[in-house]
Amino acid sequence: MRQHMELCRWLYNQLLKAKRENPNLKKYDTQRLIVELKKENPELNKVYSKVLQMVNHQLWSNLKGLNELGRKGYKVGKLRYKTSPHSWKILNYNQSGFKLDEERKRLHLSKIGEFSIKLHRRIKGKVKGVIIKRTKSGKWYAIFQVEEEPKPLPKTGKVVGIDLGVKHFAVDSDGNAFENPLFLENSLEKIKKIQMQLSRKRKGSKNWEKMRVKLVKAYERLYNQRRDFLHKLTLYYVRNYDVIILEDLDAKKIVENGHTKGFRRRFLDSALKEFVRMLSDKAGRAGRRVVFVKPAYTSRTCSRCGAIVELSLSDRVFACPKCGLVLDRDLNASLNILKKGLDEGLGRPGLPVEGGPLPRVVPYRAVITGQVFLMKQEAPSERAG
Ligand SMILES: [Zn+2]
Repeated sequence: MRQHMELCRWLYNQLLKAKRENPNLKKYDTQRLIVELKKENPELNKVYSKVLQMVNHQLWSNLKGLNELGRKGYKVGKLRYKTSPHSWKILNYNQSGFKLDEERKRLHLSKIGEFSIKLHRRIKGKVKGVIIKRTKSGKWYAIFQVEEEPKPLPKTGKVVGIDLGVKHFAVDSDGNAFENPLFLENSLEKIKKIQMQLSRKRKGSKNWEKMRVKLVKAYERLYNQRRDFLHKLTLYYVRNYDVIILEDLDAKKIVENGHTKGFRRRFLDSALKEFVRMLSDKAGRAGRRVVFVKPAYTSRTCSRCGAIVELSLSDRVFACPKCGLVLDRDLNASLNILKKGLDEGLGRPGLPVEGGPLPRVVPYRAVITGQVFLMKQEAPSERAG
């Protein structure tokens, strides 16, 4: 699998090079180029052809992502080559080339062979593809993409506005506040400690290597915890509300008191983006609506009388000198977000829901346990798993 990944990396760089030399090339052109490159480097034939096609697909979605960032006003450079060895970490078996035997806990991959896997729950629905992934700490996963029929949720008749932030993760117009969970704080703290310890070791030494692996594992744990937390939170909102109103994060500058910076800050910022992405995704499948409003003055406006009030970053309580309203700063903001969404007649939907709920592709993660049954070799059927 490592060898196949290295071949994918080589292919990616070749396709990128061709695109750089001739910017007029379209996706279809670079796709056709794969045939030529197979002649030049017959090693490529070792890799399942659809996996190679997906390398081309990846290149084009990277280019698209970069263009979108550029359009949003970010300073973007050119797409970079994957120069360092093992920097390509996936094999994407899309639609074909794989066979899963759930009973025997085996996964067969074309041009590679058969593996025993550990799958934690039974797969419901049709498997559309498998992505083989190697994590930085050296674990191997098979991620099954399974299509499930959309399940529109029953209407609740409820609308909510949510204020997202770095300090409190989410505060909503029904008065619920969700803090950044303690386990994330603990993991962030732990990472900081390991980083300090790592910096004291001699680079390349045995102890340094040990510490480096520890760091990588701590990061993996952190991101798993975050995903878990966000899944639960977004599920909560999608279950309980027909319409969910948020601020447009791209337009919002989240400013907080000085103590949040560096990795911690970037982590919390990206958690908010991930929240929006997950929420939109789940809402789309459940037939719910996510609406974005402009973030201007949502913190400083009185949610009762509309007066605009001076408010400093450290003020956690909103107090209106005009009508006397006193309440939590973020709760006041969430009420304004709700109001804005309703005032604009819910006019700026975040995602189109015409055509009804979308089919959902759910990932199932399985651990590849290391037993490899090579191709063209009859594996003993008794000792599966
Ligand atoms: Zn007021």
